[in-house]
Amino acid sequence: MKIMPNRLDRGFLRYQEEFEKKAVEVLRSGWYILGREVSSFENEFAAYTGGKYCVGLASGLDALWIAFRVLGIGTGDEVIVQGNTYIASVMGITINGATPVFVEPDEFYNIDTDKIREKVTKRTKAILVVHLYGQASDMKSIMEIAREYQLKVVEDCAQSHGACFDGQMTGTFGDIGCFSFYPSKNLGAFGDGGAIITSDADLAEKVRVFRNYGSEKRYYNRVVGTNSRLDEIQAGLLRVRLSHMGELAEERVMICARYLQKLNNPNILLPSVREGATHVWHQFVIRTDRRKELIDYLNERDIGTIIHYPIPPHLSEAYQYLKAGRGCLPITELYADTVLSIPLYNGFTEEEQEYVTEAINSFE
Ligand SMILES: *Cc1c(COP(=O)(O)O)cnc(C)c1O
Repeated sequence: MKIMPNRLDRGFLRYQEEFEKKAVEVLRSGWYILGREVSSFENEFAAYTGGKYCVGLASGLDALWIAFRVLGIGTGDEVIVQGNTYIASVMGITINGATPVFVEPDEFYNIDTDKIREKVTKRTKAILVVHLYGQASDMKSIMEIAREYQLKVVEDCAQSHGACFDGQMTGTFGDIGCFSFYPSKNLGAFGDGGAIITSDADLAEKVRVFRNYGSEKRYYNRVVGTNSRLDEIQAGLLRVRLSHMGELAEERVMICARYLQKLNNPNILLPSVREGATHVWHQFVIRTDRRKELIDYLNERDIGTIIHYPIPPHLSEAYQYLKAGRGCLPITELYADTVLSIPLYNGFTEEEQEYVTEAINSFE
């Protein structure tokens, strides 16, 4: 049996007829940019998250950098963010000329809220919260700190569609929630896509204008914006996927409950979930000091794995200018050296999972 870390084809095949019908409908409509599908998706996604306004964009990275741009955060400003994140979170900050200030993660792989206050300076303008791997961060503590220091809060929900803290959905706590619909995300398109949600009408309007060359009315440009539009085909296909999010999310929870129940190997640390938080399992991330051996062992059995992420942003070549060398963030660096994401996808069969579980349990 060959097991890949992810199988996007399974996600397509399950609703193939609906996806194909929608694609043909959009193709035949003659309207391909900013039309009915995008505005319907925006309304439906806002309703799904409990957010007030949603604006569709071209990618998750765009959602992040445009969020900071419309909040007026740029050169000379600092933004607090966890050290262990996908590099896009950090680029969303630095594209605007602002400086990321890294905080170590907790045992749930999200920002350690006990370590935020010591990083706040006169220049700190915002906290970027990343709900990594699909688990909601401790939003109660984060919002308390933000209120105390009057900081903006931007949420990176690229991995957390549907995850809640104290019953409230991620993306709706801060000023702006940023989403990606990259194909492998829990709510994935068939190409690039992204969105922001916010409860602030003024911010929503600013993003709406900014994504379309800063233009509200055709050929009248209010600000120097960008081209970051979600297209009609992706929006239409996302509407199909969103209509099935309930069952898709449930399936992932069931698969991960089985992993948690059946994986049993003293060499491996399993993920855990914070009280008050829910986890939508974008990834099932284990940790082991013998990662290289485990990867090779699983490869020999045709089981693929991925490391999310092998090089933390502060150690990447791109961010050498920050001068945050190895040793700056020991927990972040330890995680980068020991985490491993094992196969997980909608349509993962019990038989496939059994094969993976047995292989991991017999690794010694
Ligand atoms: C995927 C991802 C992004 C970027 O989204 P794109 O749509 O690929 O630009 C940002 N942050 C995190 C945490 C992600 O996983």
